[in-house]
Amino acid sequence: MTAAARPRIAVASIVQETNTFSPQPSTLDDYTAHGLWLGADAAELAAGTNTELAGAVEALTAAGATAVPLLRAWAMSGGVLRAGAFERLRDLLTGGLAAQPVDGVLLCLHGALVAESDVAADAAFTEAARAVVGPDVPIVVTHDLHANVTGRIVAAAAALIGYHTYPHVDQGDTGRRGAELVLRALREPVGTVLAKRPMLVPAESQALADPPMRRLRTLADAGGTGILDVSLFPVQPWLDVPDLGFGVTVTHAGSERAAALAHAEHLATAAWGHRAAFAVDAVPLPAAIERVRAARGTVLLVQSADSPTAGATADSAAVIGALLTHGRGIRAYATVVDAPAVAQCFAAGQDGTVDTPVGATLDDRWDGPVPLRGTVSRLGAEPVVLTGDSMTGLTISMGRWATVNTGTGLTVLLTERPAPTFDPAGYRHAGLDPAAAQAVVVRSATMYRAGFRGLFVEAILLDLPGASTPRLDYLTFERAPRPLYPIDLDGTS
Ligand SMILES: [Zn+2]
Repeated sequence: MTAAARPRIAVASIVQETNTFSPQPSTLDDYTAHGLWLGADAAELAAGTNTELAGAVEALTAAGATAVPLLRAWAMSGGVLRAGAFERLRDLLTGGLAAQPVDGVLLCLHGALVAESDVAADAAFTEAARAVVGPDVPIVVTHDLHANVTGRIVAAAAALIGYHTYPHVDQGDTGRRGAELVLRALREPVGTVLAKRPMLVPAESQALADPPMRRLRTLADAGGTGILDVSLFPVQPWLDVPDLGFGVTVTHAGSERAAALAHAEHLATAAWGHRAAFAVDAVPLPAAIERVRAARGTVLLVQSADSPTAGATADSAAVIGALLTHGRGIRAYATVVDAPAVAQCFAAGQDGTVDTPVGATLDDRWDGPVPLRGTVSRLGAEPVVLTGDSMTGLTISMGRWATVNTGTGLTVLLTERPAPTFDPAGYRHAGLDPAAAQAVVVRSATMYRAGFRGLFVEAILLDLPGASTPRLDYLTFERAPRPLYPIDLDGTS
């Protein structure tokens, strides 16, 4: 490896998390809806946001390197990526790399993307990039903490690191750390080792502030000299793929491989030892609504079972139905994806009345539609800019949207595409101030803790089925390695 005086580092970001239990395949439209940006546009449009791409470009420029932005593709989590879309994204990446000589490559990938044509799509992107640049150009990969890291991607990359936060607030920092690693790899050898255990952890108990992950993170940070990064990958659990499991990567200076491997195995064994401590308590809907009535302040009803940031369709009306039945008089906000109902609201117009079933238009396996009657209080179509600590500044399209005031205390935000409810910007964008509500439905496992920080007195995890349910025993795994904790094994196995 030779380090040019002003090295040229290619940066590409393709970020989507797959939920293999979602019935809705992801397409290229899911990326273009939020902006699929190429070349210099990618860096310009991402500038100032808390994203890997923006952080990487900033760090490279500050270090005197030349950032060569190739593309930025971001989509809300979803079902398996259609074959043609995967090939298109791969070709944009390899086409950009082939068009100009570069000294190093930074790939910002989620790490849990599944395509119809390749179950480890992030590994396939990395292998495709490797095939273009050859064996001597360092490729560094960054991942979301929910990645399912495989031996394939570790073999194709010079080094691999992940977010150190959950809720994720270090996207920009991860890009910066990745950029610094590429520059280091131009000067001296680096490597990454991986250790895994066959266990799943509910996303609701993966927060770094909670004891099991906090302890593991403290242990991770106690690595010796020559260890450059330790990343924990507890994996998002709605992923039925081979090689599934809790991963730990240790990135090291070239000579420290044995020490890195020992540290990775030590951490993976510690994670396995904590497996029973990750169990979550979920509350049935009627009991949760009674707790809302007794609370003093805004309560978050956590409908993580149907979370769009976990790849579910966000069209379950189960909580809306329960609020209409058991929650009359409670001032509450909820969301639901329902394109036909949005069309009806637009047809009725501002202040018009609607009477329509809502919910279960995309995924009807868990619960059915619910009758919704009320007045259309607001209509819109412009995208939302996130304001919370995570992905700050990122623009998300909800498609067309409408709010319906049911007159019972409940106002429903109906959208064509999922509304981001891990960040209060989604509701505020539609004129609904979460601070004014007794109950706010968030379709998010843990990210809401950053977005709604200081805005709620209690968050109640709801016991519901769904493609992103916290009750992993509700799901049927067919491709994952068995036995798998906690599906087949109890805490003492
Ligand atoms: Zn994540």
